[in-house]
Amino acid sequence: MHQVQGVVARAKGEPVSIETIHVPDPGLGEALVKVQTCGVCHTDLHYREGGINDDFPFLLGHEAAGIVEAVGDDVTSVTPGDFVILNWRAVCGNCRACNRGEPWYCFATHNATQRMTLADGTALSPALGIGAFAEKTLVAAGQCTKVDPTARAAAVGLLGCGVMAGLGAAINTGGVSRGKSVAVIGCGGVGSAAIAGSALAGADTVIAVDVEARRLEGAQKLGATHTVNSADTDPVAAIQELTGGNGADVVIDAVGRPETWKQGFYARDLAGTLVLVGVPTPDMRIPDIPLIDVFGRGGALKSSWYGDCLPTRDFPMLVSLYQQGRLDLDAFVSEEIGLGDVEAAFEKMHHAPGEGQSVLRSVVVL
Ligand SMILES: [Zn+2]
Ligand SMILES: [Zn+2]
Repeated sequence: MHQVQGVVARAKGEPVSIETIHVPDPGLGEALVKVQTCGVCHTDLHYREGGINDDFPFLLGHEAAGIVEAVGDDVTSVTPGDFVILNWRAVCGNCRACNRGEPWYCFATHNATQRMTLADGTALSPALGIGAFAEKTLVAAGQCTKVDPTARAAAVGLLGCGVMAGLGAAINTGGVSRGKSVAVIGCGGVGSAAIAGSALAGADTVIAVDVEARRLEGAQKLGATHTVNSADTDPVAAIQELTGGNGADVVIDAVGRPETWKQGFYARDLAGTLVLVGVPTPDMRIPDIPLIDVFGRGGALKSSWYGDCLPTRDFPMLVSLYQQGRLDLDAFVSEEIGLGDVEAAFEKMHHAPGEGQSVLRSVVVL
């Protein structure tokens, strides 16, 4: 058993606190990982706000890179000393998605079997089965993907959630390829990654839409060819104008609100694809759209979970592109912070447009 410090959300809506936690030695199928870096994601905040479920206390953090310290007796995929990115899609190999050869949809992903606890023995619920705002964490070995150990942990660790979600929304779910036109609504961490992914895939026109000028500037650095400030411009008309009056082949809604989804629906060209990757809240409803428009415009309305990624396939490849200078993951690291700064990082996510610092990712460095 290992006694370490971790960031815990004890009760709904209450500020997080640093607690002493107990991490078991790895059992069958498990790996103990010494965490080096962990990005602060909106999902951590949703856990703290009780927006995911009520299984408090939560051990937060799930966008991490680290070094494998120990593994269970039967584990062969990683060994102590490996540099790994943690993922929340450790595929089972046996469910109906895996069996039909689509493991990126795996419906039965697994996590560590043993529980990490508070010092008093209270079982912790690790965020997305990871819990990496901690010096060490216990995960299923399949949640560890070995990558180039010379890569910067703070940057490549972001592939563990938000950046992968955005890159994958464009490349995997949206099918963005050479010559296509793309519009991305919302240029936070996920949307900016969708822009980088679209550029990487060879899209001809990449339109960034946001209400904040600074975010649009950042999007241009990641490959946006045009920007639309939707605070003062109708994004649907602007996207149509920038695509010869047609609309974009692929529109990615990285906000996840009825208004933005509707904008995306109408900003598509005929037979275009709309990808929802921003996460809506349970109270939101599909906007009122004539069904004949859904039929008449054709195309596809898709959702993207974790960018439809397969960590074993995608992480090493994306780290390689990063190391070659073809994918700027450093641009997503807005600041490096300590374990004690997670609550302040949540505050920065909440700031109103035009106010305060524009942060793509605060990354805890241990
Ligand atoms: Zn499966
Ligand atoms: Zn996340």
